[in-house]
Amino acid sequence: MNNLRFDAVETVLSRKKKSTSTPEGKPSTFFGKNVFGIKKMKEYLPKNAYEKLVTIIDTGEVIDRELAEHISQAIKSWAISNGATHYSHWFQPLTGSTAEKHDAFFEPDNNGLPVEKFTADSLIQQEPDASSFPNGGIRNTFEARGYTGWDPSSPVFLFETAAGKTLCIPTVFLSYTGEALDYKAPLLKAINALDKAAVDVCQYFGKSVTRVAASLGIEQEYFLVDLALYNARPDLLLTGRTLFGHMSAKGQQLEDHYFGSIPERVMAFMVDLENESLKLGIPLKTRHNEVAPSQFECAPMFEEMNLAIDHNQLLLNIMEQIALRHNFKVLIHEKPYADINGSGKHNNWSLITNTGINLLAPGKTPKTNLMFLTFFVNTIKAVYEHADLLRASIASASNDHRLGANEAPPAIISIFLGSQLNDVLDEIETPRIAKIVKSESMLWHGIPKIPELNLDNTDRNRTSPFAFTGNKFEFRAVGSSANSASSMTVLNAIVAEQLIQFKTDVDKLIAKDTKKDLAILNVIRKYLKQSRAIRFEGNGYSKEWEIEAESRGLSNIKTTPKALDVYTSDKSLKLFESLGILNRRESHARHEILLESYFKKIQIEARVIGEIVNSMLAPASITYLNELVENVRGLKDLGLPKESYSSQLNLVERISTLINEILENTEAMRQERKKANNIEDIRDKAIAYDEKVRVYFDKIRYHINKLEQIVDDNKWPVPKLRELLFVN
Ligand code: ADP
Ligand code: MG
Repeated sequence: MNNLRFDAVETVLSRKKKSTSTPEGKPSTFFGKNVFGIKKMKEYLPKNAYEKLVTIIDTGEVIDRELAEHISQAIKSWAISNGATHYSHWFQPLTGSTAEKHDAFFEPDNNGLPVEKFTADSLIQQEPDASSFPNGGIRNTFEARGYTGWDPSSPVFLFETAAGKTLCIPTVFLSYTGEALDYKAPLLKAINALDKAAVDVCQYFGKSVTRVAASLGIEQEYFLVDLALYNARPDLLLTGRTLFGHMSAKGQQLEDHYFGSIPERVMAFMVDLENESLKLGIPLKTRHNEVAPSQFECAPMFEEMNLAIDHNQLLLNIMEQIALRHNFKVLIHEKPYADINGSGKHNNWSLITNTGINLLAPGKTPKTNLMFLTFFVNTIKAVYEHADLLRASIASASNDHRLGANEAPPAIISIFLGSQLNDVLDEIETPRIAKIVKSESMLWHGIPKIPELNLDNTDRNRTSPFAFTGNKFEFRAVGSSANSASSMTVLNAIVAEQLIQFKTDVDKLIAKDTKKDLAILNVIRKYLKQSRAIRFEGNGYSKEWEIEAESRGLSNIKTTPKALDVYTSDKSLKLFESLGILNRRESHARHEILLESYFKKIQIEARVIGEIVNSMLAPASITYLNELVENVRGLKDLGLPKESYSSQLNLVERISTLINEILENTEAMRQERKKANNIEDIRDKAIAYDEKVRVYFDKIRYHINKLEQIVDDNKWPVPKLRELLFVN
């Protein structure tokens, strides 16, 4: 009999080894080969244009028309001489993936003669026919145009596939009325807001700082599965996760995968991925096996935030492409398999000045310590004030499987600092310090010395969603498939707002004749008291923490539709508006888009479950059931005593009941879906999908998994988890 599953396993076992296509030379020689960065600009631009550009990059001025003309010509010569035939604005719409629309350089000129053309206009702006991107009602159909605008702070690059090379230009994506329809536009604004607020606060400690950049290093977790097996699982194919499947007898319990030696086939994929990334200027640095079977991680060196996020988005694209070359499929879903670990995207965040100081690295002198404490404590206070918004920034249907599900991180936002820093902060709050800081001459005795932190020891608490790790904060609750811009826009915004507040508070004290450093320390003390509830050092995955968090007044919103509410609270609207990051209309639109994306994802999963149950699993189980029935009937006809086939009879009953359960629940779920589809209000609809439709998923899964364990293995039509996880 034809069985997709066995064909797939057969295919995997007969695969030939793929070799890697390593470029010539050391990585340092081909790093950035496919990027038109500042070094290449020098080569391709006229001298004065190049000098002007360097000044502009320094001062952050806008690139004028004439310079843009020069740059576009330089880009064109570079791209064409490197084999590019097309160019495309490359943007990040709210679908969560990246978008591109290619135009050929080639066109016939006015006289019909063929030429290669690329102008400043095509560099600066394009009008993709964008009416089918999510817009939350911003773009009415009568004004369906949107436009993409060049982001000169992220260099153009060549995207190379076997089918050709395309010049990609990182851009923002806006509606014709100027509202953001993407992730990048608000991110850039939040980066600027934070820069400005941090520079202002830095002036307390010296006048040399003129720019503060948020830096970001993104650790990316993912799963690999063989392409043939993936294609034989309609749920993986259409939803990115398995919607059922009995956990393989061996899962991750032996803990033998984490940091284990990397299988050769996977290694070949990683090497190609790294080389391709390096060529694109993505500084990939680490690779290793993760906790779950067939789960892996890679991480680049940290970069300025905007670039780090572009690079992460690009990385996801090339992972997909290179995996296919190796007959793998990359799963970046947060939870491809129940019962084993899911995937996250740890966002390592810090603030670095133009003078090269990491504001989140403890200093060596009391003075630099005070500066560190300022940024450190303001970040803690910001997270305390807007924990719900931070939670909303990582909410999605897929991340719900990690947050608040049986596994971590929980949906409670808390901060882990480590005992050394907790001691320091506690000391600042003691009455002893209160006494000292009253007398100005003793002020510097009021700032505890910060012990040398051993970076490798600062965080072994892996259960905290937001942990200080020596010289940076690590936001770990971000989902593996998320665009980090969502959470980083929020983080930058809340810290910017907090720093502005801090400056106001300190200036107020100074105006009342308090000495500057004393004023700073006093405000820090106040913030520490106010934000105490957000600090938690214990096991964030434990049941006790949920109870304690509740008594501390921390929220724990487990699913997306309600977690998103905070996007339209007055506090959040004001935050985004006052910093010029999102106006009210944009905030409301985003809220709507997120709700819509949520219910659609659940809707698709529900449909896929229906299809698989009705057309694959129930029929296969019934076929087996019929054989059993036939068998029992035969035994009975032979006149054997009933006790001699009671187990078979029992099996008939169990299988029949299970088939009935899955069919009944699937139908009941369909009825709920129909009801939910009729709901007009988008929030109510999303909640109905969560509370009325999604609740059937686990019930159905439970019964399918029971069936899977007793139905004839030869008849089970789809790859089992042990095959997905271990056959390679
Ligand atoms: P771990 O798994 O222990 O958290 P990794 O080495 O996998 O560590 O990842 C750490 C990430 O943090 C890397 O991307 C690294 O470049 C980044 N990072 C290090 N220092 C900073 C910093 N000051 N700001 C932002 N990111 C940083
Ligand atoms: Mg980490």
